[in-house]
Amino acid sequence: MQELSCVPDFRKRKEYAIGELLMGGLGMFLFRQDSRNEINNKRREAGFSKSFERCFGTRLAHGDSIADVLCRLNPDSLEEVKMNLMAGLFEQKFLRKHRLLDKYYPLAVDATGVVSFDHRHCPQCLTRTSKNGQTTYFHYVLEAKLVTSDGLCLSLASEWIENPNGEFEKQDCERKAFARLAAKLKKHYPRLPVCILADGLYPYEGAFDICQGNGWKYIFVLKDNTLKSVQEDLVLPRRRSPKKSCYHVKGGLRIASQYRFENGLAYKKRKVNWIECVEARTRDMPRERRPAKEKDTETHCFGYLTNLEVEGGNVIALAAGGRLRWKIENEGFNTQKRGGYELEHKFCRTSLNGLKNYYTLLQIAHALNQFVERSGVVREQLKTHSKETVKNIWRMLVAYMIFACEQEHFSSRNGNGIPPAPA
Ligand SMILES: [Zn+2]
Repeated sequence: MQELSCVPDFRKRKEYAIGELLMGGLGMFLFRQDSRNEINNKRREAGFSKSFERCFGTRLAHGDSIADVLCRLNPDSLEEVKMNLMAGLFEQKFLRKHRLLDKYYPLAVDATGVVSFDHRHCPQCLTRTSKNGQTTYFHYVLEAKLVTSDGLCLSLASEWIENPNGEFEKQDCERKAFARLAAKLKKHYPRLPVCILADGLYPYEGAFDICQGNGWKYIFVLKDNTLKSVQEDLVLPRRRSPKKSCYHVKGGLRIASQYRFENGLAYKKRKVNWIECVEARTRDMPRERRPAKEKDTETHCFGYLTNLEVEGGNVIALAAGGRLRWKIENEGFNTQKRGGYELEHKFCRTSLNGLKNYYTLLQIAHALNQFVERSGVVREQLKTHSKETVKNIWRMLVAYMIFACEQEHFSSRNGNGIPPAPA
C-alpha cells in the first residue's frame, strides 16, 4: 500500500487518494474478480467494502473511478512500483534457495498475447492480415519472470511489443523487445546474478551479445533447424561426447534420461556449450494393464545451448534448469489466463495506458497471491481436504469478506454471534 501511495498524483480533483484507487484495482485481482463489474457487485455488499477497508486501511472506490485514473496514469510509474517490490524480495534473501547451481536466479523470458481486436484499438497495435484479407489488431507483452522448481513465477519486468506512435517500416517484434527488456532488467537489478532461460527463438547473435554484455548466463533451447554451423559441429559429439544417465519415477512414469554435453563449440566469434537430454518414458504399470494403443516407451529429446561450463557433475542440474522455462507458460501465462485472473479480458477497451496499468496490477496481485497460497493456513487447507482447490479457497475468502462484518455486528448486539430470532 505504501508503495502505491508513492505513485505521483497528476489529478486536480481528488475524491480518493491515488493509493486508494490503485489498491482498489489491485484488490480486483487479489480477490480473483474477473471483471470490473464483478468487483463493483462486491462493492455494493456493505460487508465487503467494510472488510476491505479494515484489511487494507483504504476505502474501496467504484470501478469507474479506478479505471479513470488507470487510463491516465503513466504505465512506467506502476511498472516501477512492481520492480521495486521485486527488488525488495531479493534483498530479503529467501529466494536464494531457488538459485541455479547455488548462484544464478533462473529468469524465464517469453512473450504472450494480452488482447486482440477485429478493429484498430490504438495507433500502436500490432497487426496481422490473414489470407482472406481479415486484419487482427493485438497487443503482446514480453515478460522476464523468476521461475522456481516448486512453481513460483514472479514478473520481474515486462516490455510491451508494440509499434511506435507514428510512421515505421517494420513492426516491432520479440527480439527487438528483448533488447529493451534486457536494458530495463540491468537498470533495475544491476548486480543480480541471472541465468536467462528462453525458447528456440533466442539462440541468435543479438541475444548472445546482450547476455555477455550484461554478465548474464543463459540456457537457450536449441532446435534442430537453428544455427546450422553449430548443428554441423554436433555430429560427432552426438555420438561420442561424455554420457551421463539417470533414472527416476515421476507422475506414474518411469523415466530414463541420458545426457550428453560438449563445451566450446564454435559459433561465429564465440564459443557455446551444448547439452542434450534424451528421455525415455514408460508408464509405471505392467504391460497388460496399459491401454492397448499405448507405445511401450516414448522418447523425447531436449537440446540446449549455454554459456555455463558443463561437466558431469552439473549437467543434470543445468538440463533441469533449462526445462524450468516451461514454468513461464504453465504457472505464469496459463494461470494468469485461466486461474481466475483473466489476463486476456479487456479490462480497458479504449486506452492503451489503462490496458497496461491493469496488466501491471495483475502481475503484482499474482505475485502476492502466490505467497499467500504458500502460507501455512492455505497449505493446511489443501492438505486436509484432498479435493480442495485454490480457486475455491478464494471463493470462501470473498464470502468471508462479505459476511465477517455482519457477523461481528450480530455478536456485538447479543453477545453470542447468533442472529436474533425473528419476532
Ligand atoms: Zn492497440
